[in-house]
Amino acid sequence: MDNQIKTFQISDNIYWGYQYKIPLLYALSISNQTIIDEIKKDMENFFNTHNLEYLKKGIDNLDLHICGDIAKDNSVVYVCTHDH
Ligand SMILES: [Zn+2]
Repeated sequence: MDNQIKTFQISDNIYWGYQYKIPLLYALSISNQTIIDEIKKDMENFFNTHNLEYLKKGIDNLDLHICGDIAKDNSVVYVCTHDH
C-alpha cells in the first residue's frame, strides 16, 4: 500500500476522463480541497502546454468535489461537478 498510486478522474460533460495521479499516502495526508486545487493546476498547465485556450478558461467555472472514497483500494476516485 505504501507505493500505491491513486487515480482521480473527472466526471463532467466536458472534462470527463481527465486523470490526475498521486501517491495514495500523499492523497490521504492533504485535504480534499488541496487535491482539487492541484487537479485544477494540473489541468491548467496541460491545457496551457497544448494551447487549449477554451478548455483552460473553462476551469474557472468548474466546481469540483471528490465523490469517492480515497482510502478504498484499487479504485478510481471520481471528482465530479454534479449536484447531489
Ligand atoms: Zn459528486
